[in-house]
Amino acid sequence: MYRSHHCGELNAAHINTEVTLSGWVQGVRDKGFMIYVDLRDRYGITQLYFDEEQSSKSLLEKAQSLGREFVIQVKGQVQERASKNPNIPTGDIEILVSELTILNEAELPPFTIEDETDGGEELRMKYRYLDIRRNPVKESLIFRHKVTQEVRNYLSKEGFIEVETPYLIKSTPEGARDFVVPSRMNEGQFYALPQSPQTFKQLLMVGGMDKYFQIVKCFRDEDLRADRQPEFTQIDCEMAFIEQEDILNAFEGLTRHLLKEVNGVEVDKFPRMLYDDAMRLYGNDKPDIRFGMEFGELNEVAQHKDFNVFNSAELVVGIAVPGGNAYTRKEIDKLIDWVKRPQVGALGMVYCRCNDDGSFKSSVDKFYDQDDLAKWADVTGAKAGDLICVLSGPTNKVRAQLSALRMELAERLGLRKPNEFAPLWVMDFPLLEWDEDTERYHAMHHPFTSPKPGQIELLKTNPGAVKANAYDLVLNGNEIGGGSIRIHDKETQALMFDYLGFTPEEAKAQFGFLMDAFQYGAPPHGGLAFGLDRLVAILGGQETIRDFIAFPKNNNGRDVMIDAPAPIDDEQLKELSLKLNVKS
Ligand code: ASP
Repeated sequence: MYRSHHCGELNAAHINTEVTLSGWVQGVRDKGFMIYVDLRDRYGITQLYFDEEQSSKSLLEKAQSLGREFVIQVKGQVQERASKNPNIPTGDIEILVSELTILNEAELPPFTIEDETDGGEELRMKYRYLDIRRNPVKESLIFRHKVTQEVRNYLSKEGFIEVETPYLIKSTPEGARDFVVPSRMNEGQFYALPQSPQTFKQLLMVGGMDKYFQIVKCFRDEDLRADRQPEFTQIDCEMAFIEQEDILNAFEGLTRHLLKEVNGVEVDKFPRMLYDDAMRLYGNDKPDIRFGMEFGELNEVAQHKDFNVFNSAELVVGIAVPGGNAYTRKEIDKLIDWVKRPQVGALGMVYCRCNDDGSFKSSVDKFYDQDDLAKWADVTGAKAGDLICVLSGPTNKVRAQLSALRMELAERLGLRKPNEFAPLWVMDFPLLEWDEDTERYHAMHHPFTSPKPGQIELLKTNPGAVKANAYDLVLNGNEIGGGSIRIHDKETQALMFDYLGFTPEEAKAQFGFLMDAFQYGAPPHGGLAFGLDRLVAILGGQETIRDFIAFPKNNNGRDVMIDAPAPIDDEQLKELSLKLNVKS
């Protein structure tokens, strides 16, 4: 028996009990005649005690030889501590050790195993097993377990069945590049790793499994923007014989359950916002609605004066920064520099101070009088003491720029509170999205998403205007889930592939299996998928997903611990009938 108790368990009620504990040495305080050792395991820390009077010489020497992260087992008696530590559950007691066994020695760890460590991120990823011993990472993994457990509880209770789908498949069009796996038995052929189980879950609906879910790994070979992982986890869901409303209710229910069970937070019915409104009011399809600062479109009140920058712009749009009139000229100049950074890309920023006496002072006073500026304040909802920030330019660009500014200012003003949760549905996304590079329309969600009823015809005349039965679940400015009602008949699906530029042969080669299945009685169906890593991070009050993933990859998609990806040897290449053509 390695242990009778764990290291977070013992307290005053156990005094005089004989116990056995095992764990890692967090630290040794050697006072010569007395030695204290902090013993750590997953559950906590317990103080071990040795002294000249009560411990044998050999025991004392053994205790003195202990190094950080040694794995040890001790037997001893629980006794009351002379100086108590009210900050930890075991702070009232210590173990007077009678027997010490070193189970394994340890090298000095490359960084301190403390809540606040001296190890940089890359180093901690290299020695992730040590990092996992630290409370913040350990707690995040336990937190993730709790969330997934609650997901399984809730969905199972609602009648969903968890079904596994294969990883070695053929391309699924989620808009990223595939990771591919060469097949040894089928020379020159490759599997693709699923970007999502999309087509399989639809086939499960055809198979009659009318409520499916799966906590599943997905793989997307994308350029890794900060905080993305090439492999990530989805809570993937699909339902048959449902309408959009049923899906929204089912997964709003799941989200509400998680917020309640995991965070102890009750939220009202989730607001719903049309995609067009989200773009107009927040310049963003995943608005953070924990705070206001909604966009005010100023074309009507700011154009047709003598200010040509605004006159020639497609959109003039502003936000009111609460209390922003307190900014000094220097601070405002810095803000202007911030929006001009290449990452944001604005050409400049016009501002207007809203003074306490009700007057205005703008950076374009030459062109606008007090009445004009009062209208700006009216449209943006600015009050005395606020600062109005105005950007102008092509609609899509300027919305993205002002959205970036809104988020930055909210961050600086402390309005993005991690323990406040503001979920909402964003609905009626466009079906298609114009891609500047290929000069073609792409499915904004994926090609299996159905257009809004009655809009199929519009595909011919104005494809960009067609709306989809597609919805995203947004939480605190992050898309945590997205899905759609699917096309479930072969004709519409064929039409859709056609509009997306697939020849009938290409469509058949890539998705023939799905089209075939649609000929055998496909029920109406739809679903969505949550990004589990992000969901867990947000519920955990954090913005970065890495700490919630046991073994994450770095920004170059590398696992620096196991050193992958890595070359394979010539023999393996030969077996796979592959020849490399890599510039060294
Ligand atoms: N497969 C979709 C995705 O990964 C989700 C869905 O439509 O259910 O985004």
